[in-house]
Amino acid sequence: MTVTFKWGACSEIGLVRQVNEDSKLTEPPLFAVADGMGGHASGDVASAIAVEVLEAELRKSDSIADAVHNANKAIFQRAAKEPDLTGMGTTLTAMWADERSAQIAHVGDSRAYLLRDGHLSRLTTDHTVVNRLVQQGRIMPEDADRHPQRSYLERALGVDPEVEVDVHVLDMLPGDRVLLCSDGLFGMIDDDLIQNVMTMETSPQRAAERLCEEAVHAGGNDNVTTVIVDFPDPDSSPTPGSTTRSFTTPAHASGPTATGPLGGANPTSPVQTVTPPAPAPSPIRSSSTSGPRQEPRGSRLLLWVAVAVVVLGGGAFLANMSIKGSWYVGVDSGQVAVFNGVPGKVAGFELGELKNRTELQADTLPDLYQGRLEEGIKANSRTDARAIVADLEKLVTPAVPPTPAPDTETSPGAESPAGPPPA
Ligand code: MN
Repeated sequence: MTVTFKWGACSEIGLVRQVNEDSKLTEPPLFAVADGMGGHASGDVASAIAVEVLEAELRKSDSIADAVHNANKAIFQRAAKEPDLTGMGTTLTAMWADERSAQIAHVGDSRAYLLRDGHLSRLTTDHTVVNRLVQQGRIMPEDADRHPQRSYLERALGVDPEVEVDVHVLDMLPGDRVLLCSDGLFGMIDDDLIQNVMTMETSPQRAAERLCEEAVHAGGNDNVTTVIVDFPDPDSSPTPGSTTRSFTTPAHASGPTATGPLGGANPTSPVQTVTPPAPAPSPIRSSSTSGPRQEPRGSRLLLWVAVAVVVLGGGAFLANMSIKGSWYVGVDSGQVAVFNGVPGKVAGFELGELKNRTELQADTLPDLYQGRLEEGIKANSRTDARAIVADLEKLVTPAVPPTPAPDTETSPGAESPAGPPPA
């Protein structure tokens, strides 16, 4: 079966960032947005690998979950091989569709939205600390998108050898419009404006561009990427334009995969969560968009963090960045300690994880260093953190006694073990 989608896409660097670390994929029936992160501008490498591997995998496989899983491995392995790419990672929000259904695969804090009958609803759950706190009732939902720590990711591709992937299958209706976007969009403009633009602009390409323009106009603090896909309305005559492509329906969509009809009693939650149709046992699990977040699973669920803070027009924003490789030296129970993560709390939730508490008492250090320790001294690695601790220890433990050594001579004893072995 051949289905014709109309789609449009846009990606802008914005007004602040030096590099566009977002990537997009528009290869019907596959569409995706990835928002890379990492030091030394390697985020663009991670997001590019994500969409490339996703597409390549789905040319030979029917499982979008497996494809995302393999993209994760590819990024992780590349980062392990190249020191310059250490710590890189990326979000990925992808849609694999046919005329009547769509599979949405999602990791991180990019989003998929559905516009149906003029109403915009979110199809994905942000894998962020802030979102978990919203679900726990500790932060108001309306504060989440502008929260200063909203970019602290709990999941991303490329951080660990395995990753948990959300996969949803949706029943689609004629006239449905799906938006995939990076956080540079909804971090800058409200859902109301997104809904308005998507409702008013009939051309998907124009709608995608308008959303980018609105985000840049609102400050352009981050890279912004939008992909808009219109599901065909059989009542309207097909008028292929420059943004129309045909494709062969993927094998996954040849039978009904959705669990039931959409809409109905809860029009704001049209997402159905199903087990990904992976043929073999897979480490990937589907996860509910409406249920409570699972508790962090130890060190595997290390937080990701925003390191870059840029003040623009009185507002601050944060860029996604991995803290998998972020360390700092701080204070725990009065003693100098090494932490993984970054200093600080979000609604009482510690963002750093204590890794090693040293014997060094913080209050024995000069005031200047005590102050810096309270804020947390950033380190590039665990080794670097240990080196900082060693430097701090020197401040209180002189390597050489301050007073001249007494002039007792140490003469080599007759029992010196350094003698040559008997022949
Ligand atoms: Mn971003």
